[in-house]
Amino acid sequence: MKKNTPHANGEKAFKGIGVTRGIVIGEVALLERHRMALSQRRITAGQMHAELRRFEEAIEKSKAQLEEVKQRIVERGLAQHSYILDVHLKLMDDRMLRDETIKTITEQLVNTEWALKKTLEKIAEAFDAIEDEYFKGRKEDVKHVVDRILHNLVEGETSAIEEIEENMIVVAHDLSPADTIQLNLQRVIGFVTDIGGKTSHTAIVSRSLEIPAVVGLEDITAYVSGGETIIIDGTEGEVIVDPSPATIKLYHVKQQQYRYFERELLKYAPLRAETQDGYHLTVQANIELIDEIPSVIQYGAEGVGLYRTEYLYLNRKSLPDEEEHFAVYKRLAEEVAPYSATIRTLDLGGDKFASYIELAEEMNPAMGLRAIRFCLREPEVFKTQLRGILRASTYGKIKILLPMISGVEELREVKGILKDAKDELKGRKIAFDPEIPLGVMIEVPSAVVIADILAREADFFSIGTNDLIQYSLAIDRVNEHVSYLYEPLHPAIVRNIKRVVDTARAEGIEVGICGEMAADPLYTLIFLGLGLDVLSMHPIAVPGIKKVVRRCTRTEGEAVLKEVLQFTTAKDTELFIRQKMAERFPEDFAQSTE
Ligand code: PEP
Ligand code: MG
Repeated sequence: MKKNTPHANGEKAFKGIGVTRGIVIGEVALLERHRMALSQRRITAGQMHAELRRFEEAIEKSKAQLEEVKQRIVERGLAQHSYILDVHLKLMDDRMLRDETIKTITEQLVNTEWALKKTLEKIAEAFDAIEDEYFKGRKEDVKHVVDRILHNLVEGETSAIEEIEENMIVVAHDLSPADTIQLNLQRVIGFVTDIGGKTSHTAIVSRSLEIPAVVGLEDITAYVSGGETIIIDGTEGEVIVDPSPATIKLYHVKQQQYRYFERELLKYAPLRAETQDGYHLTVQANIELIDEIPSVIQYGAEGVGLYRTEYLYLNRKSLPDEEEHFAVYKRLAEEVAPYSATIRTLDLGGDKFASYIELAEEMNPAMGLRAIRFCLREPEVFKTQLRGILRASTYGKIKILLPMISGVEELREVKGILKDAKDELKGRKIAFDPEIPLGVMIEVPSAVVIADILAREADFFSIGTNDLIQYSLAIDRVNEHVSYLYEPLHPAIVRNIKRVVDTARAEGIEVGICGEMAADPLYTLIFLGLGLDVLSMHPIAVPGIKKVVRRCTRTEGEAVLKEVLQFTTAKDTELFIRQKMAERFPEDFAQSTE
């Protein structure tokens, strides 16, 4: 990753990971909670009780603050996000956190701040011993909770985040999802953090709230002290501190261009994604949270092509029951009507874990007991979700999508469980759509090879290119050391997609793509040439894809595909397609300089 680049004019440029697009220029509000000076102070035995009382009071105050934030979130209609606060509230009462701290205070006769810091170090060590992305995330949650308690101990005041004025850009080592939600309440215009990645909770929440953000800058907090002018470009992942007047001017122009570009693109939102020669491509949205439905509609998606339901299971203490599933899916079906909503069944495992579900520690979780494999191992958990989906199916058009299918037996087994779920509902005299479509995600190479077998028993295919690339090219999608090999245009990927689409065509079933590739307009002509029925993507990407579709012809796509299939490397294909798009859309695609 490109690091801080000092310029002769005094400005400092940083490159990180842009997680929410948009350009903002503002003033730095530095959140320094992680750098709070915590010194060790000896106390006397006589002071011990007062010290323990300080600890209890700080916890109670922290809990009251979290409850207040939660209340405000609920009032703003963002109840969906409040579960994170519930986790933090529970952590405030965590035995280890409390007992260890009290033990250190009483046995070592030290101040509470120091004792709490020691407890945090112990908990962090315990988490570090577990090699698991999910637990790393939980470590951060504990840290946020401790930070809040410490803040109340040190300053005896409310969290600094609540004192931030409007229109500031927050720079922090890290922000918890709870902080992120508050930032929006305070109308902060952007945020920048040292740590984090595209798929961290914070990034996901920031995207759904549409606050421009750049994360993973490693040490930006060391370069600012608050009050500086700062520019962030969430599209490019760029951050500039103390920009020169010329740079500010440049970014004002870029900002205007970006806003113009967004406004222009929005004009495509209500239009049909139909090529000049009459080929209609259904452009749908991927969502993680039910609160994103307004964006689905605003950006003109024709329904939801992928609802990642695992987010319903995360950050909580127990499994959602049938009623909860039903209520969420009913709302989804009703609000996206007359379009369809594709609900993907639980895709847990890999990098997504729920603490209350026992999954064995695995050497290679991406290939372990996850997704459909887990659901087939736990049929009752699976059936509860299926009953919820079935019950909602009379309130709109719902389809079921199965993740990680690698062989046809899994599909058959699911059908058996689905039949049981239907029979149970019949027994309870509850209506459902008896013909509810059952689709398969094609994201494992074996599923590509046996696509013909699967197509005869599935109602539709949705190609998950994120995992298909990971498994076909043997590249861990979250490992930055091999990210240079993560090439969507690798001939193996293009051929795999073509094979799946051709097979679906031959067998007469619908086929779409719901991986990140679908959102990139660079590939749209290729997909038109392949003859895909559906592309599903994060909602804001929808208008840009509609634009390309409406300005091109299917025939043009077929000609491009023919050429693409001749190339032997991803680089050659990319060069070709970039040049093609730069010719066709000079305003959107810079001419490649390679
Ligand atoms: C995919 O693998 O392409 C996909 C859409 O699913 P996820 O990103 O949730 O694994
Ligand atoms: Mg996947």
